[in-house]
Amino acid sequence: MVSQTHKGKLAEAPPGRNGVKTDPPASSEMVVRAPVLVLNLNYVPINVCTVRRAVVLLVKEKAELLENHQGQLHTVDRIIDAPSVIRLAYLVKRPFLPRKLSKKEVFLRDRYTCQYCAKKSQDLTLDHVVPRRQHGPHTWDNVVAACTRCNLRKAGRTPAEANMKLSKTPRAPDPNPYLILQNRVILDEWQAYLPWAIRGVQEG
Ligand SMILES: [Zn+2]
Repeated sequence: MVSQTHKGKLAEAPPGRNGVKTDPPASSEMVVRAPVLVLNLNYVPINVCTVRRAVVLLVKEKAELLENHQGQLHTVDRIIDAPSVIRLAYLVKRPFLPRKLSKKEVFLRDRYTCQYCAKKSQDLTLDHVVPRRQHGPHTWDNVVAACTRCNLRKAGRTPAEANMKLSKTPRAPDPNPYLILQNRVILDEWQAYLPWAIRGVQEG
C-alpha cells in the first residue's frame, strides 16, 4: 500500500522538461535510501544498509561492488550506479549482535524444555541460576527455562544449594542470520547471495 502511494506521487511529478532537472529529487532521495545487501569478506550476508551508506563504504574502498540496483546517484561531480549488493573488504568476526534477552528468547533457546528436569513444557518460568537476591545478573549465562515445579523447588537458591543440576551451561543463543532479512523485501539481485532465502527459514 505504501509503494502505491509512492508510485502515485511519482506519476504526478512533472515529466521534467520545463527547465526542471530530469531526475525529480524525490526519486534520488528514494534511491539513496534503498536497501543494499552487505556481505562479509567471506560472502556471508551480514547486514542491510542504505545506498547512501554503501556508497560511502565503496568510496572509502572498505567494500567492493557486486551488484547494481536500478537507478543512479548524482553526486557533485559524477553519476554513479546505485549499489544493491556490496562485499566488505575486511572480515567482521562477530557480525551478528547477540539476540535480545527476553523470556520468549530464553524459552526458544532452551527449546521449551526445563533445564533442571528436562521436561518439555509450555508452562515455563524464567529462572535466574544464581538468584537475583544473591546478585545473580540478568544475563544469557544466568537465565534458564524452568518448569513451575522445579522453580518452586529451587526457590531462590543456587542449583548447588537446592541440590539440582542444570542439563547444560546456559549461554547466549546462536546468532540468527535470518534476522537481518526479517520483514524485508528481498530484491532480485540479492537472491544469488542468499542460499537460505531459497530454502526458506527452517526452525532450529
Ligand atoms: Zn522442571
